[in-house]
Amino acid sequence: MSELRRIGFIGLGNMGGPMCGHLARAGYDVAAFDLDGGALARAVDAGARAGTSSLDCAAGADAVITMLPAPPHVEQVLLHDGVIAAMAPGAVSIDMSTSSTAVGARVAQAARERGVDVLDAPVAGQNIGAQSGTLAIYVGGEESVFERARPLFDVMGNPDRVFHMGPHGAGYTIKLLLNLKWFIESVATGEILTVGVRAGVPLDRLYSALVGSPANSNFLERDVRPVLESGDYDEAFPMRLVTKDLGLAVELARDVGVPVELTGLVEQIHRRARVQYGDEAGEISAIRLYEDLAGLELRLPPEDLD
Ligand code: NAD
Repeated sequence: MSELRRIGFIGLGNMGGPMCGHLARAGYDVAAFDLDGGALARAVDAGARAGTSSLDCAAGADAVITMLPAPPHVEQVLLHDGVIAAMAPGAVSIDMSTSSTAVGARVAQAARERGVDVLDAPVAGQNIGAQSGTLAIYVGGEESVFERARPLFDVMGNPDRVFHMGPHGAGYTIKLLLNLKWFIESVATGEILTVGVRAGVPLDRLYSALVGSPANSNFLERDVRPVLESGDYDEAFPMRLVTKDLGLAVELARDVGVPVELTGLVEQIHRRARVQYGDEAGEISAIRLYEDLAGLELRLPPEDLD
């Protein structure tokens, strides 16, 4: 168990809810808060205490964990609501949201003035990984602070996939880049499969040729399968978060002065898919755009399914 025993947990949605539950069940003293009363009630069922506000969770906490939708929410809670200012010197603020290095830097500045330590620790693994406690966690911040918080990460994630990536901000950067690569692959796969099928090649032959070639990838071999098998575009991660992450990746590239034409285009394609299919549509909806453009469905014949 971590020396950080009293935990404030703010943001109890698809990811934060189950993560908070793991900490409570592991014996940590968790005060939880969410603007959504239903989410808060579920955290209480899982063993957390209901905080009355974000500030209430911060008071007396050894660590405050935030798992919020996007940078504006992180800035609101940690800076404008006064969570950092209410934390005791020596306590640790751990933001596990997929957020931006820019907001992270403002939080770190306020934390330094208060004597509070900070980590950015975004995750990969979706709701299913949050439920099973097998998330991958990419942590930025001082090594000694990481080591103090590590037992908390080991409870929420797979201990073999808890990584210290470098100074504060490195976790956000890596998370945005690994998502960007995946979203680029989604568009590339949609284009390639649609062109092939329109050119008259049976999808199963095209698919197995690609998987058996140097062009193979995890996305092609595994992640796109639900679309090809049953038209499941994976609503576990909604388009509102996909486009948020892509916007942050564009911003990151701009901040470091690297022109990213491909990323800009890929972002716009996913934005179009969000407008077309809705904020809560599944994360692979870009492929549906190509299906609709070409007037076809990319589905493997039943005999190709396991
Ligand atoms: P979510 O929208 O399900 O949950 C966010 C929660 O934050 C909501 O319950 C909301 O009520 C609460 N909230 C918002 N503003 C608040 C405030 N000011 N005070 C208190 N509570 C507030 O989102 P999620 O899917 O749990 O994702 C959380 C973060 O994790 C996001 O940054 C997302 O990009 C990232 N992430 C999500 C997944 C996934 O599969 N869902 C995977 C990896 C990373």
